[in-house]
Amino acid sequence: MNQSDSNSKDLDVSPATWLISAGRPSDPGAPLNSPLIPASNFVLGSSRAYARDDATPAWEAFETVVGGLEGGTAVSFASGMAAAAALFGTLRVGATVIFPTDCYAGVVGLMKEGVGKRGWNCVRLPAVDTEAWLTHAKTADMIWLESPTNPLLDIADLPRICKAPRKAGSLLVVDNTIATPLNQRPLAFGADAVMHSATKYMGGHSDLLAGVVVARDPALAREMRMARELSGGTPGTLEVFLALRGLRTMALRVAASQANAMAIASRLTEHPLVHSVRYPGLPAHPGHKIASTFMRGFGGVVTFEVEGDAARADAVCRSLKIVRHATSLGAVESTIERRAAVPGQEHLPPGLLRMSVGCEEVEDLWRDLIQAMDHLRG
Ligand SMILES: *Cc1c(COP(=O)(O)O)cnc(C)c1O
Repeated sequence: MNQSDSNSKDLDVSPATWLISAGRPSDPGAPLNSPLIPASNFVLGSSRAYARDDATPAWEAFETVVGGLEGGTAVSFASGMAAAAALFGTLRVGATVIFPTDCYAGVVGLMKEGVGKRGWNCVRLPAVDTEAWLTHAKTADMIWLESPTNPLLDIADLPRICKAPRKAGSLLVVDNTIATPLNQRPLAFGADAVMHSATKYMGGHSDLLAGVVVARDPALAREMRMARELSGGTPGTLEVFLALRGLRTMALRVAASQANAMAIASRLTEHPLVHSVRYPGLPAHPGHKIASTFMRGFGGVVTFEVEGDAARADAVCRSLKIVRHATSLGAVESTIERRAAVPGQEHLPPGLLRMSVGCEEVEDLWRDLIQAMDHLRG
């Protein structure tokens, strides 16, 4: 793991401290937390008139914290998909887009829509094939990266691809949802923008939908704010309040999740009914060496296959008692899902399980996995 802490180079405190201390009111008598202000409109005479156009104080605090963490200007959205749609909205008819073979299903859906309705030329490249990315970056209008990818956890050489020579005016975006800015900061590598589903690790409690774009160039941030205003993809006041509350504990949660994920992944490799354990923290993972050069930690998602067919993988999901059989990731509670059962993900091995390892005591999680797999022997 790279301990040289290049991740915090433009914050004057560590990211963990920033998450807790930034974006708080400071006037005497002000509450320590940005209050929940359920208001669509404000008394005229200041820069704030209508919430969809001019934001609320809670969004601004959330954007301050996330922007500082990623090293750019943050613009919050109603969901990760609203954030992604705003970025794709910058593309013209006939644009060329390159994106990973293994990519978040919703983003693949946006891509398909662009091909059908706006004549985009979309090219899928394996995240691990750095040379292919370097070649296509010269002609692409949008370079959309995800690393680690969801759900196969392929690692792209982000520092190299982000620095590659590319077409003038092109946009290089990294979906940083799975890694979180605590583990990698793509803007520092040369990306133009980072996108997050704040629904996941930022919120951290499976109780909200939110998204965010962080732009290196303030002009792109302005374009994102305009897209938000015109599409109405504005985050709800309660959601942003909760997402900001989630950020306060994100460093603790991510540290606990990835320590648990490492332990679970290495124990799974020894289990006789399990094969193809994928976790970038495992030395045997094909991307481990490269990930170690630029990631501070390897995240909380582990993917593995259960011996046998889809029915056996489903049986494991149903037998688990602590790990919840549910989609999504990045929460305090562990969840597991057979991804090939998700529409649009049929290309995945049928028995592939994606586990989002939460913050429970790791021995309890392990016992739960063991008892669920013991059911298969019966
Ligand atoms: C969940 C997710 C999204 C979409 O975010 P929503 O908040 O669900 O709209 C995008 N990318 C990745 C990697 C995700 O996990």
